[in-house]
Amino acid sequence: MSGPVVRFAPSPTGLIHIGNARTALLNALYARKQLGTFVLRLDDTDRARSEERFAKAIGEDLGWLGIPPDKVETQSSRMGRYEAALTELRDAGRVYACYETEDELERKRRRQLGRGLPPVYDRAALTMSAEDRTKYESEGRRPYFRFKLDHRLVKWNDLVRGEISIDTASLSDPVVCRADGTWLYSLASVIDDIDMQVTHVIRGEDHITNTAAQLDMFAALGGSAPAFAHHNLLTLPGGEGLSKRFGSLSIQSLREAGHEALAIASAAVLTGTSLALEPAENLDTLAEKIDFKKISHGPARFDPADLDALTAKTLHAASYASVSARLEALGAGGGEKFWLAVRGNLARLSDAKDWWEVVSAQLASKIADADAEFCKLAETLLPAEPWSENIWDEWLAAIKPAANRKGRELFHPLRIALTARENGPELRALLPLIGRARASARLRGETA
Ligand code: GLU
Repeated sequence: MSGPVVRFAPSPTGLIHIGNARTALLNALYARKQLGTFVLRLDDTDRARSEERFAKAIGEDLGWLGIPPDKVETQSSRMGRYEAALTELRDAGRVYACYETEDELERKRRRQLGRGLPPVYDRAALTMSAEDRTKYESEGRRPYFRFKLDHRLVKWNDLVRGEISIDTASLSDPVVCRADGTWLYSLASVIDDIDMQVTHVIRGEDHITNTAAQLDMFAALGGSAPAFAHHNLLTLPGGEGLSKRFGSLSIQSLREAGHEALAIASAAVLTGTSLALEPAENLDTLAEKIDFKKISHGPARFDPADLDALTAKTLHAASYASVSARLEALGAGGGEKFWLAVRGNLARLSDAKDWWEVVSAQLASKIADADAEFCKLAETLLPAEPWSENIWDEWLAAIKPAANRKGRELFHPLRIALTARENGPELRALLPLIGRARASARLRGETA
């Protein structure tokens, strides 16, 4: 038996943000865990707003997050299929033509609201006479199409939220295709899910009502419905939707700000669940943690400030193998020894470049006058090469009795002399990387 088929279905009308990434990751990692297929379906039926550059950016963002799709589908290339399904459903009486203008519909809605009724479409088009139709057509009106809901209690066992039931009589028959021929999302999506044999629809809880209507559509098309999992949406700490902060929370800008993909993925997946928000070791371990039952039913409050700590923690635990190519691209050498020496001090990976310069490039001395003699003394006590693994301890054992200093008085001047920085990675790890010649010159106060 083949594994599950899931899809992430954004409209390529903009960049994706961390909230969209939550949906994408829940899908992709679910597929990864179950050896399934992850489809990127671009919902690009809105030709005016969909742009190729956004489709490309979404693919790149998914790749950067470590979840490249197994397949890419576009709705715009499936119009023929949708038209055929529309004809089939019209013949079966499940899709009907309507002629009301937006204005007329708006007036109906206002009248209903005025009478205290829900603004549900009254199905007037179903009882329209042949003369009315001819009259509309002769006025140049083109029909738009609605799907006729079953008006029944639709129930499903949501993988996140448990049993859900919605009476479709409380909903307007959804418009599936506009008068200008553009397709709306709901029916096209169902046709896709059937044709692509999607087994699990994992999406935001803003789609729960759509699901009720779509389950009617699956039945009308004779397709078997997938399982549904509606996850909570990421919001800012005050509860506002992410769209408000869209720019700064797009995956692209988070990447440009130097955040680690794994930190973003951990925040996107773990926020708003009963699991602790901590950086995952890798996407496989993050996938193992996914359990729909652990997703909260309330909003998933996300504090962008948490990302700094998550990015730092991700780096502090990152293996050399997982970053070596990026270190090389930054021009930071030194191999695994260097990485293990500095990783615990990084807020962003690019900081590694600064530490590489500290150990390998010329540094102007910052030794305080009061410490110059002490540093010179320490220099004379630097053991000869070759240096052992314990070079730092050997050196300190020689300095302590000679200089009669301890604690900060002892270490701080050495740090300033060797690195020209107030803080940083352990000198024990840096000294071997700096090497004897450079250490010696720096202790003498030379630029080296
Ligand atoms: N294009 C829809 C959206 O982004 C897809 C929803 C779905 O996953 O079915 O909201």
